[in-house]
Amino acid sequence: MKVCNLSAPGRRVTVRQTGGRIISSHNRANEQKPSHSSRRVTRRAEDTEAEGPALRPGPLSPATLQALQRSVGNAAVAGILTERGGSPRPAEPAARPPAGRPPSVQRAPGSSSDEFDDGGISEQDLLAARRAAFLTALHGEFAKSNQWDLSATQGSDGSVTRFTAAKRPKKQSRPRPFTETPEVKDLRRVSTVVRTYLKNQGMNPVEVQAAIGRSGRLLIAANDVKSNAHLRDLFNRGDGTQVLAGMMEQTRGKGFPAEPRNQQEIHDREIRQHTKAKPEAASPPSFPGIQSALNSGVTVAVAGPPGMHAERRIVAHNDGITPDHLGGTKRPCASCATALYPEGGPGVHPGIFQSDDVFNIGFPEYDHSDLGNEKASAERMFQRINKAVEYTYVTVTKRGVEVPEIGSESESEPG
Ligand SMILES: [Zn+2]
Repeated sequence: MKVCNLSAPGRRVTVRQTGGRIISSHNRANEQKPSHSSRRVTRRAEDTEAEGPALRPGPLSPATLQALQRSVGNAAVAGILTERGGSPRPAEPAARPPAGRPPSVQRAPGSSSDEFDDGGISEQDLLAARRAAFLTALHGEFAKSNQWDLSATQGSDGSVTRFTAAKRPKKQSRPRPFTETPEVKDLRRVSTVVRTYLKNQGMNPVEVQAAIGRSGRLLIAANDVKSNAHLRDLFNRGDGTQVLAGMMEQTRGKGFPAEPRNQQEIHDREIRQHTKAKPEAASPPSFPGIQSALNSGVTVAVAGPPGMHAERRIVAHNDGITPDHLGGTKRPCASCATALYPEGGPGVHPGIFQSDDVFNIGFPEYDHSDLGNEKASAERMFQRINKAVEYTYVTVTKRGVEVPEIGSESESEPG
């Protein structure tokens, strides 16, 4: 996969990859602001290393947690956190570190280096442990409901590190002729034109969505930060219709980028859509359903951390309101469908739920730093998703072949 620079202009964007997962700068923000009390505890933990960690009433400090994880493992720590349930009651003292283990001195979180390189538990390990505690709880909620088919990856300690969930009965949807409104039909064509152009530029937009915003302007977004910056430059420079015409011109010259695996049939459909939008020689392309929005101007919805899904960026640029007309190249994931259409609806055909971070950016419940409360957060998050998502859908080709879920995290990271 192509390696892309994730730096947005004027701002360094930190993306951490933990075993194939992104920890966004959004999530990390909390990790880098230790309170004074946690600094004190850090020193105390170092001073009393030989005695092993002792649990005190109240929330566990990161230092105590790290010491616990080192000595008893992540699953046990998750268990202790669940048992504590945020109550001030001290839990059982944890096991001591193995005798003879040299004390490992750790820098305080937020020190100049992002990594601990001295053999101690890294900040990354701590994040992974918090994440696993939350995901294990969330997976438990899905399982308990007995309405979802689950597929999970577990760590050696039995904690869930990632999972997908498809609601029963799983629905299939086939490529079909457009039955949407003229607006949505043209929004999907625009999304296809833009995504094809970006891929031919060597970028990895993952997904592109377009909408008519409240201002009457056309809103466009990709999942990928670099793609969005590029689009913003393009659309700031010229008339929207002309920019799209230029993209189509380039595609005619370069052809269509290759699509992975079984997506060829879906890809063929994209070609047909593209052909429909293809301008006659020397005439502007025609998007009758959205021409007035195009004439009002194009806003590229750049807001949001790396990997955040395009439809969520569009909502963020639309005063938090889901546009009436939204069209992209893929179905919304279960998390986006929940965020955009909390009451669900027959016209909403979400894909399966995926636990990876980029799918869930912006969910207040999806907060791994809220240690000790992951059970309550997981419960709330599951309730929201289960209410909004009546069924989940997989896309199948006309021959009935299932198309692998696209927009998975491996594709979300331009890495
Ligand atoms: Zn999504």
